[in-house]
Amino acid sequence: MPIAHLNIGSNQGDRQGNISLAVSLIDKQAGHVLAVSDPVESPPWGYDSANPFINVGINIDTSLTPFDLLDTLQAIERQISPNPHRNPDGTYRDRVIDIDIILYGDVHITTPRLTIPHPLMHQRPFVLSPLRQLTPPPQQRTR
Ligand code: ADP
Ligand code: MG
Repeated sequence: MPIAHLNIGSNQGDRQGNISLAVSLIDKQAGHVLAVSDPVESPPWGYDSANPFINVGINIDTSLTPFDLLDTLQAIERQISPNPHRNPDGTYRDRVIDIDIILYGDVHITTPRLTIPHPLMHQRPFVLSPLRQLTPPPQQRTR
């Protein structure tokens, strides 16, 4: 089955508790959780807020297609918190839970609703550092 890498973030309420709940709901509803990274704490990215985020990366084994996975993750976000992720003008705001698809096997998708690999992953240390932790370096080649 395809392996996907997800990034989960929270900067409101019981941040670690929100993330742990998301991991357990993902395991039940989206796909078997294979690995969970250490948490990373960092200031909000792209907007001003006094509330730092905690982020973790996870690897899952999933039988859902990328679009069904996105639907399922968004349903899980709503199960954890009904609060909107954006302000009415489209800018970021504090959030109880955010779950993004970073990678899905070697699939490339570019649509308004879903882009994989996640288009901002390279700019976000809180995505790259958990991903690096869960991705073993390639074996050194011997000739
Ligand atoms: P952020 O970019 O910080 O995750 P939002 O959670 O508010 O901000 O953005 C959610 C929107 O991004 C969703 O409506 C979803 O359709 C879209 N989206 C596009 N690509 C992805 C992806 N790879 N993972 C999650 N959401 C995505
Ligand atoms: Mg999101």
